Amino acid sequence: MNVNEIYLDGYRNYIDTTAHFINGVNVITGRNAQGKTNLIEAIYYLTSGRSFRPASDKELIKFDTETACIRAGIVSNEREQTLEARIFRGRRRHLFANDVKLKKAAELAGRLTAVLFSPDDLTLIKDGASVRRKMMDNCLSQLRPGYLAALTEFNKLYEHKTRILRDYHEKPSLLELLDDYDLRLAEQSAKLIYYRAAFAEGLSKRAAKIHDEFASGTETLSITYKTVGRIDAEGKKPSELLPLLLRHQAEHRNAELRSGLCLSGAHKDDLEIEINGTPARKYASQGQARTASVSIKLAERDIHYDDKNEYPVLLLDDVLSELDSKRQNFILSRIKEGQVFITCCEDTVIEALHNGNTLRIEKGKIIA
Ligand code: ATP
Ligand code: MG
Repeated sequence: MNVNEIYLDGYRNYIDTTAHFINGVNVITGRNAQGKTNLIEAIYYLTSGRSFRPASDKELIKFDTETACIRAGIVSNEREQTLEARIFRGRRRHLFANDVKLKKAAELAGRLTAVLFSPDDLTLIKDGASVRRKMMDNCLSQLRPGYLAALTEFNKLYEHKTRILRDYHEKPSLLELLDDYDLRLAEQSAKLIYYRAAFAEGLSKRAAKIHDEFASGTETLSITYKTVGRIDAEGKKPSELLPLLLRHQAEHRNAELRSGLCLSGAHKDDLEIEINGTPARKYASQGQARTASVSIKLAERDIHYDDKNEYPVLLLDDVLSELDSKRQNFILSRIKEGQVFITCCEDTVIEALHNGNTLRIEKGKIIA
């Protein structure tokens, strides 16, 4: 999987610009605020039809411009393809694959897959559980077709059930629906938990190994999947999980009615991350958090590869800062296969990459 070239017009600070990439390491350098992250963001946009930054589509359009275009030539499953996004101010954007207009963004799935590290991914270590669930959801949606369907159904049922729990005081007849919603919700939870437990097991093994090398054996990373009610999900099929989830739900029925909140289900899941046996969320240093989150991303990439026999594109935005030179060199040693985009402000790093292609960016222009 790789991106051969990208054309940007009216996107962020780019006007009518084409960049060519190699199927190896592409180093994107330049001073601050020149457009390095914008370029990574444009590539990412074509994987899912959205930015990884909290930006609405109209913020992606260049100031004083009406439309933005991102168009890329890629190779996916050994086939050349083109992907294109046209974003309009005040109108719905259009997505195209091989010049055919797509009905929805979900149709982009699987064409260009990418694993991204951005400095915001430190939240993976430092923030609450929802960030880690989202990471599992993103990854599993790309890997397992059944997962996205189960997640969509789960989210719908969760919303309905929450509405019942909130509104039944005014409309007691709603309570008659609760048993049915509980069962359907538990069925979808069982599927999600089944996939997540297997994913977490693979991720945990790979990430621990990467982190160990990354930190030259001075730190151990452990990732443990946690679901509700201390249920041990490892190796259990959805049919084995279902009765356990139904029991947990039943035990929480009264508390749910009292609080008006849905207290049982896959929306409570988390990945517990520890470094050297202490919770990383509370105790990890900046460098440790970065090391752990990069290890998780590299592990994610290996999972994709083992599954699809093709590396997803690796997008590394500002990954090297805050790391000592040993850890920086580790990252550079780990990106010798597949296509990689790595942004950095310094030229020194580039020297370590003998066969890298360097693109220097100045004010939205590609200089070299
Ligand atoms: P750093 O090294 O600081 O991370 P960078 O090269 O990654 O910098 P980017 O985030 O890619 O920088 O680009 C930032 C520049 O893009 C800013 O100067 C910003 O004003 C400009 N920019 C962002 N959105 C738009 C837009 N919609 N229209 C025009 N310019 C924009
Ligand atoms: Mg940047």
